[in-house]
Amino acid sequence: MNPRIPAVLESETKNYLKCPECSSRIGSVDHLKEGTRFGIWYCQSCGTAVSGTVLKTGIDIVVHDDERSTPSLTLLRTSHPLSTGDYVYIVVREVLFPGFNSPEHLSYWYNEHSCPTNYLGLQIFEGCNSDPHGLLQWVDTIKRPTTEEYQAMSEASSGIKGFDETDLSWDNLLALFPRLQVVLDLDDGIDVKPKLVGLGLTGE
Ligand SMILES: [Zn+2]
Repeated sequence: MNPRIPAVLESETKNYLKCPECSSRIGSVDHLKEGTRFGIWYCQSCGTAVSGTVLKTGIDIVVHDDERSTPSLTLLRTSHPLSTGDYVYIVVREVLFPGFNSPEHLSYWYNEHSCPTNYLGLQIFEGCNSDPHGLLQWVDTIKRPTTEEYQAMSEASSGIKGFDETDLSWDNLLALFPRLQVVLDLDDGIDVKPKLVGLGLTGE
């Protein structure tokens, strides 16, 4: 029998900037050298906007109320149905910057401008193309509901259990994203309501 020996353990300390409003982690600061100015950075939980300066003794930050962003949920789906006729739907958690909320702006951002890697958090290949813009199409963006708002929605729609963005079903998607029904109505073909074949929750 192989001998049992004590394991060697190693600890590592990482420093994160915490949100001055909700205490969530905004970002890692270990890579910033003394004298560096950074930001504006956004809290992904509450939308608080901060910039900062790295000093010898610590980090000073400034909260920018005029740049505060809105925590949001965005529903995307594949540009084309799979061979089965179904689409894959993905929900992205993000923050929306001030003034960045029109359907024109959002559809341009997701359909054409942004690299899918940025909001999926993983590298996607389409053949040899490692940055396939247009892979996913924008369906709808909403302000991310608070816990209380989820509770109210859950009570209002009996039968929908565990109503939040981490426990998604087709009914939840339809209730959360009003524009989804509009997009489904515009779909060509006889089967107006494509089946939900996949669901991802990304962005954090
Ligand atoms: Zn926050």
